Amino acid sequence: MNINVLDTTLRDGEQTPGVSLTPQEKLRIATKLDEIGVEFIEAGSAITSEGERESIKQITKQGFNAEILSFSRPLTVDIDYCLECDVDAVNLVVPTSELHISDKLQTTKEKLIDLSNDAVDYCKDHGLIVELSAEDASRSDVDFLKSVYVNAIQHGVDRICVCDTVGILTPDSSFELFSQLRDLSVPISCHCHNDFGLAVANTLSAIKGGASEIHTTINGIGERAGNTSFEECVVSIDRLLDDYSTNIRINEIYDISKLVARLTGVYIQPNKAIVGENAFSHESGIHSDGIIKNSATYEPMTPELVGRKRKFVIGKHMGTHGLDNRLKELGLNVNDNQLKQICDDIKILADKGKTVTDVDLQVIADNVLEINHKDRIKLDEVTIVSGNKVMPTASVKISIDGEEILNAGVGLGPVDAAINAIKSLDIFQDIDLIEYHVDSITGGTDAFIDVIIKLQKGDKVVSARGTEADIINASVKAYIAGVNRLLSD
Ligand code: MN
Repeated sequence: MNINVLDTTLRDGEQTPGVSLTPQEKLRIATKLDEIGVEFIEAGSAITSEGERESIKQITKQGFNAEILSFSRPLTVDIDYCLECDVDAVNLVVPTSELHISDKLQTTKEKLIDLSNDAVDYCKDHGLIVELSAEDASRSDVDFLKSVYVNAIQHGVDRICVCDTVGILTPDSSFELFSQLRDLSVPISCHCHNDFGLAVANTLSAIKGGASEIHTTINGIGERAGNTSFEECVVSIDRLLDDYSTNIRINEIYDISKLVARLTGVYIQPNKAIVGENAFSHESGIHSDGIIKNSATYEPMTPELVGRKRKFVIGKHMGTHGLDNRLKELGLNVNDNQLKQICDDIKILADKGKTVTDVDLQVIADNVLEINHKDRIKLDEVTIVSGNKVMPTASVKISIDGEEILNAGVGLGPVDAAINAIKSLDIFQDIDLIEYHVDSITGGTDAFIDVIIKLQKGDKVVSARGTEADIINASVKAYIAGVNRLLSD
């Protein structure tokens, strides 16, 4: 059975605290919603403001496939503004709980039914499609709720909606409530809020109970804890409910999620299902190993299904299998010993509380691959004396072709002094340092320092890098690595 989707990102979603979209931004989102296959787009609430009406008009002008709705109270003033915006339909919201009727509207049930019937008549007289949403339906007396719907249906309403306005349904009570309404003669939709984190679960239960339409917002944005999340709900229907499907192009879900996150400034938690940064990331060695052999071992769906890519995160839980895979992606082929050395170095870095990035991995791998060259020059020791009233002085112990040499030098700073101590030896005489560049790999004073240098000897130019927690060691290491490369054929 096909489930229709009404997306209310542009109305309920925009009611997220701190979110306000320009007409251009709303149009971009609406365009994408239409492309992805949403049947109904609630574009806003026409009564709200001139700007809001401008947004809705922009959207209704496009001739989208989707039906365009505006939110409306059961009042002619609201409906007139909807008509001005040339919407196809209204989401006519009628409160049905005792609490809303007596405390908010300060009216009676009888008067409310009259109000609702009159509004439906007015809409139908003006050619509007009407979805009647019972606000706070989940806290309403079921018999009264039914009588509101039955009256509306008699007045020609096209669809009805059950709103769990404060998100208090559970999967069981949601199923129960929809089952009691399933015999009504028009399609029923389900509008859930996520106050207890149950919006998606309750929406799925509503479908089982008889709902044929769901209300969602992209990334689940909305008032308070938000609404039923479009991506979670649509993918769940597709993957977990055997007899149901939607018309949504699931492989574009990640794109629309990113678009809405960017335009609203409401960023997605990393562990959010489907669209969170970590949803298809693997670090653990056992998991990565399983994934590489058969992705179904630790993924209930492929990342490609929702327009994403699998990611192996580099970290201390990563096994050699996943690491080898990542290195190959970076174009680095290593042997077993090198792989083990790289793995050990990553664990040292990770144990210091560092996030290991691709750049870190590249540098670590470079270092390990360097070590395995036959180097003519090896650094044994560097000692620095430095301070605010001392001429920076360095002494170095290096071996050249196995012969141990001690030397000293001074410089403008400790790095300069250390390089000078090495450079003054004969073997370095015709080597020029033409570039010196320092990067802190990660933030903090305990960051690893990445030094990249360029050296020249005659026509030959090489670059080399050194990565250490200590800037002097990193510089000397880079310098010697570069010289070794220049001296190798
Ligand atoms: Mn709502």
